[in-house]
Amino acid sequence: MIRVAVNGYGVIGRRVADAVAGQEDMQVVGVVKAKPDYKARLASEKGYKLYASDEKSLDAFRKASYQVSGLAKDLVREADIVVDACPEDIGARNKVMYEQLEKKAVFQGGEEHDVAGVSFVAQCDFDQAAGKKFVRVVSCNTTGLCRILYAVDRAYGIKKARVILARRAADPEESSKGPIDAVVLDPVSLPSHHGEDVMTVLPHINVVSMAYKIPTTHMHLHSLIVSLKDGGATEAGIIEAFDGTTRLLMVEGKEGFKSTAQVMDYARELKRGRSDLFEVTVWKDSIKIVDDELYMFAGVHQEAIVVPENIDAIRALYGGYSASDSIRMTNKSLGIVK
Ligand code: NAD
Repeated sequence: MIRVAVNGYGVIGRRVADAVAGQEDMQVVGVVKAKPDYKARLASEKGYKLYASDEKSLDAFRKASYQVSGLAKDLVREADIVVDACPEDIGARNKVMYEQLEKKAVFQGGEEHDVAGVSFVAQCDFDQAAGKKFVRVVSCNTTGLCRILYAVDRAYGIKKARVILARRAADPEESSKGPIDAVVLDPVSLPSHHGEDVMTVLPHINVVSMAYKIPTTHMHLHSLIVSLKDGGATEAGIIEAFDGTTRLLMVEGKEGFKSTAQVMDYARELKRGRSDLFEVTVWKDSIKIVDDELYMFAGVHQEAIVVPENIDAIRALYGGYSASDSIRMTNKSLGIVK
């Protein structure tokens, strides 16, 4: 069994902890929380051993009468691999601890590429991470874009890709974040960082992006324009390429999928924990080829899409697994059909 510690038990950490617990070859040795809030309560109720991020947080947990097994460093010592799901930039600070205790770690997309030197999307570059000490699972948007562009590139070759991202403004629990009634250019000065981030995984594909935040909490929506090398590309060929890849769900407007709301409504019926949609969603009837350029819409459930990548990243770091074996095991455990 691979012994996994989860440092940071928020949107991503608690999903990753449950996914780890569902693997036949992994176990959760404990989770680290900074504050004794309802997520700490959830961790205890699920039977995960709780650890405090530092002495101050340990004090707060004790005052709130939580049973805490120690500090983050005590947990890290017990683990083979740490999944660091702390907020942006804290992972980079925690890296010192992982190095001191000689532990391997998976970081998240809020960290810079340099935190690990390998940015990860399982189907694109599993072998790059094999046996390494550190790996960074890229952000939700980057994960979705990489899955799509990787499949298109293998089928037809990509000259360049241009992407516009309408980003959810906040996660559902973040009641203090906005906007409530505005579209926020994010950032105003172009390009946005997303294209560059895709190139940390697929460096040979030229990607430029722009983004804005919209008042919704459930999904990001991507509009892609991809110039293809192969002049013979067809819509049927693109659909075939997507059919042959993993973690990509096709939906159609004519079935009633007119917006992200229907996609999330569908996800709620899949009987996965929390209505998580691990697949990138592609609107099949948006796929259009005009003058050797592919036009399409795609959606990303930001809270869920990186969960399978975290599981595969653990196996890649641990070593001894092929990409296809790991992806198959992860997909089966999470109910991802293809
Ligand atoms: P979050 O704020 O929901 O969760 C982070 C958790 O870490 C919180 O519970 C917080 O209390 C805890 N924490 C804070 N400081 C800590 C410390 N020093 N030690 C241990 N725990 C600490 O954040 P999140 O949305 O889960 O994001 C985590 C990472 O995942 C970030 O890098 C983010 O960019 C990335 N990510 C987030 C999303 C998303 O949509 N939320 C999607 C993909 C990737």
